[in-house]
Order: sequence, then C-alpha cells, then structure tokens
Amino acid sequence: MTTILLIEDELPIAEMLRGFFERDGFDFHHVETGEDGLNRLKQRPVDAVLLDLNLPGMDGVDVCRKIRMFSDVPVIMLTARDSEIDKVVGLEIGADDYVTKPFSPRELLARIKAVLRRLEDRRPEPTSIEVGGFVIDGGRRQVTTPAGDLVQPTAREFDLLMYLAENRGMALSRSQILQAVWGYDYFGETRTVDVHVRQVRKKLDGIPLETVWGVGYRIGS
Ligand code: CA
Repeated sequence: MTTILLIEDELPIAEMLRGFFERDGFDFHHVETGEDGLNRLKQRPVDAVLLDLNLPGMDGVDVCRKIRMFSDVPVIMLTARDSEIDKVVGLEIGADDYVTKPFSPRELLARIKAVLRRLEDRRPEPTSIEVGGFVIDGGRRQVTTPAGDLVQPTAREFDLLMYLAENRGMALSRSQILQAVWGYDYFGETRTVDVHVRQVRKKLDGIPLETVWGVGYRIGS
C-alpha cells in the first residue's frame, strides 16, 4: 500500500484529499504544520509527501529543505498560484513536482503516480503500451505501427509519446508536458511541445494524439 503524508493547514482540502486517496487505496496521513510533518517523517518514512507552500510557522520551502537533509522521499508542492511555482522552482528546494490550487485530486494522483514511476525508472522495467494499434515499446524505445512497420522516434519524441501514453485519456497541458519530459530546469517555450507533437504525428500517421483546445494534448481515450 502506498503511504502518503499531506502537510496542509487548510482542513477542507485535507478532508477532500483524504476521501479521494483512501477510496483509491492509499494509506493517507495528514498533519497541519511543517514541524509535525518533519517529526512524522523522522518517525516513519512514507512513499510520497504532499506539501503545502503556505503553512503557518515554518513554510513549505523550509520544510522541503529540511526534509532533504534526511530523506529522498518524493515531495509534491501544493502552491496557490502559478507565480509561486516559478518562485519555488527558482529556489531549487528539491521538490519533485508542483501543482497549483485549485487542482483536481485526479490530477494530483496522476502526478504522484508519475513521481513514483520516475523513482522506479531508476531501475528501469521496460513496458509496452498499445494505443490505437501502435505499440510503444519502452524497452527498445521504438514504435510498431498498425501496419507492422518499425518507427524510431528521436529520444525526446519518444519520451513525449510515452508520457502521453502512460497518461492516456488525460488532457495534459503544455507546461505539464514540458515539466515531465524536458525537466524542471527547462525554461523553454511551450511551443517546443507543439513542434515535437507535430513530428510525432508525422512519423506515426494515424496515432490518436489529439489537440485539446485551451489545454494541450491527449492520447487515446
Ligand atoms: Ca496553506
């Protein structure tokens, strides 16, 4: 069972997340302050930490730095505004991911799963995902078309395709894709994503990679 620790002073958010994560089979724990969170983590490790940025007393930035002094546990920051994400990323406090309030629990869950998966990727266990007759082979990093042709995308195109396929059916924003595929230290334009999507569509004619207006992209359904 995956254990999650939420450090959040806003009780309605905590209750909403508890309901969602417990229904999804997580072992969910909640504390209201950074001090309590640090104590809890030192007593017993968890699989992932959800950390609010604006906490009374020690704020999320300090809490994250202190966690990093003794633990590599994945930390996902909950921030109130996009501009705060920029600030937090700029500080390089060692968080693994960020979501902006208001967020849907489903989005947060996807982020947690992605973070945990990146950890597992350290000892890679290649998977194949099939989308619309295209087989995306994570081990060989190549794609077989419905007609049986082998296609070898570039490394970045493949990572983009795999990220979309792993989150199939979900509309992913350009900035989400940038963060996941290019990494947090990449401060390029979101147009980069469009360019790569165009290449993927060209190489894999007929792949169900849709543009979601006002959001970004989605693969499959
Ligand atoms: Ca707060």
